[in-house]
Amino acid sequence: MPPPCSRCVSQRVINLETARKLGMVTGALVGTLQSAYVSLYSPARGSLTASPHFPLSRIAVAVVAGASGGIAGAAAGHRLVEHLFPPGDGTPWLCLGCGHAFRELA
Ligand SMILES: [Zn+2]
Repeated sequence: MPPPCSRCVSQRVINLETARKLGMVTGALVGTLQSAYVSLYSPARGSLTASPHFPLSRIAVAVVAGASGGIAGAAAGHRLVEHLFPPGDGTPWLCLGCGHAFRELA
């Protein structure tokens, strides 16, 4: 059971630890897809198109870009939630009613 908000006594609170994990996962996923898409469908650069190995190298580039984009996305998602964390110990919660973040000692 989540604790009620310490400001508005709303029961609609979410666990920030869970939100951080979700943020990292979605951030990584979005970053991966975005970077892979951009490197696959961005206009061809220079002599790469003339190479017989073009499709393979293009996909390799997309995979590398996607992986690094995923790492960047995960870091961004992590930072996004991290700044909501109140200082102190205990489980961090975020009230969806008033946006108040607080910690509850278990
Ligand atoms: Zn509240």
